[in-house]
Amino acid sequence: MQVFERIEALKAYLKAERQKGKIIGFVPTMGALHAGHLSLLNILKPKADIIVSSVFVNPAQFNDASDLANYPRVLEKDRQMLEQQGCDVLFCPSEQEMYPQSSRLTMDFGQLERVMEGQYRPGHFNGVALVVSKLFHIVEPDLAVFGQKDLQQFLVIQQLCRDLFFNVELICAPIVREADGLAMSSRNRRLSAEKRPLATVFYKALTFAKEQLLSGQSVESVQSNIQNFCAAQQEIELEYFQIADSEDLNPVADIREHEQVSLCIAGYLDGIRLIDNIFLF
Ligand code: AMP
Repeated sequence: MQVFERIEALKAYLKAERQKGKIIGFVPTMGALHAGHLSLLNILKPKADIIVSSVFVNPAQFNDASDLANYPRVLEKDRQMLEQQGCDVLFCPSEQEMYPQSSRLTMDFGQLERVMEGQYRPGHFNGVALVVSKLFHIVEPDLAVFGQKDLQQFLVIQQLCRDLFFNVELICAPIVREADGLAMSSRNRRLSAEKRPLATVFYKALTFAKEQLLSGQSVESVQSNIQNFCAAQQEIELEYFQIADSEDLNPVADIREHEQVSLCIAGYLDGIRLIDNIFLF
């Protein structure tokens, strides 16, 4: 696996590969890799000749300084995992390399960023769009994979690519879960062994809500059942539970009026923010 810390060296390498007709697939990450990240690489294997992965903890997308400071950073372990998984190129730039000057550019995704993550993490999607734009300009991938785990992020990036004519095929990868249902996340490793079993409550709430909605209960009653269910759990602080249209993530009042519906949840356990979602249909 080739490892690059500098933009120009990576660009020169990929330009030569592109000239040989190679198809470039890209998986951007913030590191502290787990099986969920590796599944994104597997999706690219049959589709791309060269798989590029980036590991960069993007300060611009953190609205909480302690979350940024505590974000796990294990680059050497990540490098080994990527190499074993058959990644061809790792890009792991410094903050100075990616942000040589502080950026004043702002992007507004309208209603899409007024709900859920956008509502509770102001500026988050601006930071995501900024770094993804930079990375897409550097890597110029033919294909890029992002996880359904961050569904709203996927929709923001889709809009970014449409609006700015990024010539890249986006793939949305399913969520990889632990055996007990917890969605894999780099932040899970910050949960203590004692608190870790409690983290399944988010997935339980989603599956509980799905059963109730499919058995005909109203959106309103399911909303309040989930609020009550989470309030009854030890140490869980629910931030939002949203029954949303999967196209624009606007809240849904009646599931029968929508073609695709997602159930999305976010909350805190032990001071750590966890998110999850499932498709209703
Ligand atoms: P992150 O390192 O958290 O920025 O995540 C990098 C990519 O991995 C994003 O596209 C995430 O949506 C995706 N991802 C994170 N967790 C999972 C998971 N459990 N299953 C599948 N993809 C995931």
